[in-house]
Amino acid sequence: MKKILLTLSVVALLSVMAMASEDKSDWGYSHNGPAHWDEFSKACSSGNAQSPINIIPGKTVSMNHQFELHMSENIHTTAKVIDNGHSIKVTPKVGGNVELNGEIFNLLQFHFHGKSEHTVDGKRYDMVAHLVHQNIKTKQLAVVAVFFEEGENNAILDNILGGIGKNIRIDPQDILPDDIAHYYHYIGSLTTPPCSENVQWYLLKMPAKASKDQIEAFRKYYVDNERPVQEIHNRSIESN
Ligand SMILES: [Zn+2]
Repeated sequence: MKKILLTLSVVALLSVMAMASEDKSDWGYSHNGPAHWDEFSKACSSGNAQSPINIIPGKTVSMNHQFELHMSENIHTTAKVIDNGHSIKVTPKVGGNVELNGEIFNLLQFHFHGKSEHTVDGKRYDMVAHLVHQNIKTKQLAVVAVFFEEGENNAILDNILGGIGKNIRIDPQDILPDDIAHYYHYIGSLTTPPCSENVQWYLLKMPAKASKDQIEAFRKYYVDNERPVQEIHNRSIESN
């Protein structure tokens, strides 16, 4: 009996400690929301190349280096799906890679926001997946954003939604829309603390589809996990 009581009080103490540390050290979207993120990283308020932004198609410039966003093909792998407290995140064991301007970036993870963070002419898409890649040599990050709009059911989303807390079999490329040749590109930042800059953003113009039920299922986890759009300052946004 004593042992049980001791165990219970240790558990209670640990959960109090966990709550306290969550309160202090964790950023969020309502409590400790974007207006407070500079308490976690100065770059969130002092940076001048932050993401997300609103893309105005009429004000974009043509791509100064024309290249294809080349994705490695047929990567079938296992992936861990977790709810990390900010998003539903999928970490493939072997993510495959993209070739951007002749450099190879490996896919580290992808995660979802309940509405798109970037807007196009002020329009926010129903959902977005951010595919976070890293340059194998320079370690620079490149994020490929896949917008979702309501339409037919998307098999990979069912696989992910059913796999939260588990390992699933996946081909990360199944998340991509048919057309990956057209996109907006600019240099921005992570959209969450530490808001680090020098991140290459590739926003695919063609949205992928997700059914109404799937969008609602994701939003049961997260709906307001979007950072407000940031100032563009003197950055140019490329489009092809
Ligand atoms: Zn994201």
